[in-house]
Amino acid sequence: MDRAQEGGINDVGIGALFGLVDYRFEILAIMEHARHLEEDYGCGPHTVSFPRIEPAEGTPFSQRENIPHPVSDKDFMKIIAIIRIAMPYTGIIISTRERPELRDQLVRYGVSQISAASETNPGGYDEEGDNTKAKPYEKTGSTGAQFTLGDHRSLDEVISMMIDGGYIPSFCTGCYRKGRVGADFMDLAKPGLIKEYCKPNAMFTFREYLEDYASPETKEKGLRLLKELTQTFPKEELKRRVEGNLCKIGEGERDLYF
Ligand code: SF4
Repeated sequence: MDRAQEGGINDVGIGALFGLVDYRFEILAIMEHARHLEEDYGCGPHTVSFPRIEPAEGTPFSQRENIPHPVSDKDFMKIIAIIRIAMPYTGIIISTRERPELRDQLVRYGVSQISAASETNPGGYDEEGDNTKAKPYEKTGSTGAQFTLGDHRSLDEVISMMIDGGYIPSFCTGCYRKGRVGADFMDLAKPGLIKEYCKPNAMFTFREYLEDYASPETKEKGLRLLKELTQTFPKEELKRRVEGNLCKIGEGERDLYF
């Protein structure tokens, strides 16, 4: 990460593969790593990932009985909560390694970025992004999967879960495209000012998803959530701008962001 920063990469993400050593050491190491990045480069990690070792083909070490320091679900939830408190500015990532019920719960403990409908094997998606037709390698019969997935839900199912919890599923990349990266991003993220951008942008990208990809049921409840959220902007002018953009997206405009 030091070399990446020195090479001109503004945003770096860190993490640890949990299960190799005592998780208490990993938490302290992640926090120390973040402190070092802040002190030396003026910018802590943009994201922190929390993969737990999952069984992988051809790797006996990854089988559950061989994992040297397995982390229980209860400890895993504690880990996420501690890092959320220690680093409120960072994005916390949870992959589809974890089971649906645990992932749904972890969103409440501070996870902010989740994947859906993922594949971990080469050639896992076809040209349309369909992940349901993955074929084993011809030579070995193996799928070559990097690890075993725990959450097999479709994107629409994950989005639907988030709507039910009152969360706004966001596909926003506004900061990168506006150049809000590195220390400039942290100046907004640390005092919490970034939410002035995140909330409207999340709503715009969510509306695009609802228009272009959602199932009819997800679209219906998603539009209801957007309507409720529009009423929560305290400043009348911002509320009008958000409503205006949402309306334009409904009429076919795309790629609107602050
Ligand atoms: S504005 Fe968009 S890209 Fe920037 S932090 Fe918020 S969600 Fe992420």
